[in-house]
Amino acid sequence: MGKLDFIYEDLENLKKEGLYITIRTISSPQDAWTVVDGKRVLNMCSNNYLGFANHPELKEAAKQAIDRYGVGPAAVRTIAGTMDLHLELERKLAEFKGAEAVISFQSGFNTNLATIPALVGRGDVIFSDELNHASIIDGCRLSRATIVRYNHNDPEDLARKVAEEGPKYRRKLIVTDGVFSMDGDIAPLPEIAEIAEKHEAILMVDDAHGEGVLGRGGRGIVDHYGLHGRVDIEVGTLSKAFGVVGGYVAGRKEIVEYLRQKARPFLFSSAVTPPDVAATIRAVDILMASEDLVNKLWENTRYFKEQMKALGFDIGQSVTPITPVMLGEATLAQEFSKRLFEEGVFAQAIGYPTVPRGKARIRVMLSAVHSKEDLDYALDKFAKVGRELGVLKA
Ligand SMILES: *Cc1c(COP(=O)(O)O)cnc(C)c1O
Repeated sequence: MGKLDFIYEDLENLKKEGLYITIRTISSPQDAWTVVDGKRVLNMCSNNYLGFANHPELKEAAKQAIDRYGVGPAAVRTIAGTMDLHLELERKLAEFKGAEAVISFQSGFNTNLATIPALVGRGDVIFSDELNHASIIDGCRLSRATIVRYNHNDPEDLARKVAEEGPKYRRKLIVTDGVFSMDGDIAPLPEIAEIAEKHEAILMVDDAHGEGVLGRGGRGIVDHYGLHGRVDIEVGTLSKAFGVVGGYVAGRKEIVEYLRQKARPFLFSSAVTPPDVAATIRAVDILMASEDLVNKLWENTRYFKEQMKALGFDIGQSVTPITPVMLGEATLAQEFSKRLFEEGVFAQAIGYPTVPRGKARIRVMLSAVHSKEDLDYALDKFAKVGRELGVLKA
């Protein structure tokens, strides 16, 4: 046996189990219609909620930043100095979020890896929703704190576990996704905040899919519930609704100052590039000036969901623009997605292990870039393929 045989065997097993990931190639901007594997299709699976990924004003801001600052930061911020551009972004985001301060990171994933191990370590305990995002799970593992998983969106289970386990440890952290990206449901944050306050636990919410979507003008889940000042750490990503790349933490200025001293990806990895930052600043400016894009996103969401229900599809319990079309078996979801693609609609099938066995689905992501005609096109194709595959009555 060669030492790398396991790689070959694992890859073969993934293929046999239908879990091998085939990555499609995109050769156009991310927009309502996108060229995927050489074919122009209606894009129903990007995180480009507000259309910022190809927004003319963001592109212009990025170009100007290249002329003024060049293309790269050329160093870690703490070692060779930070560009004023990054500080401007952090000020703007803090203003947008209604938080005291913000620190930015290279991605949302990185933000969780940076933040959790800076706050807790051996001898501490983390209470983590069982469906939390992989980057939260990895951040928790990296911290070496004890991890206690609580039942998904279940404050009673959380309260019981915090009361039982909490007193055995030094510090306590409660961490949850704001919006759960596979089902589109949201965390019961007011109840969780009460538990955190009662037990003096640090409270952290990862609002990756709530940013630009929930709350007034897209200010996120804390704003949605009116919980300003009661959530210690709000993690955000700049790669979803904001359309660019990067991540950040919003919170009290002491927390942000602490992370500037302690968070390892901040101390040992370069920042995102000047054009990224300038484009993100423009996105925040646009969101602060007008709620039009966020309103359009919700208008599209309401319309699409109503029509899908009327057609007879099971679209789960989502309360956000994430729309799971529940199909059950992974093979059916894959066939459905393939047929949609042939019909000109790009919507990915999601199966085990991303979601539990038997809960395979097509996950539709709505966006402000979709026109009503686009949505009608998608609905027509969903109906056609749904009848063809026996999901809807003929
Ligand atoms: C997408 C996502 C991330 C990762 O964000 P990136 O900026 O793409 O690295 C982190 N947390 C949650 C909850 C997410 O949905």
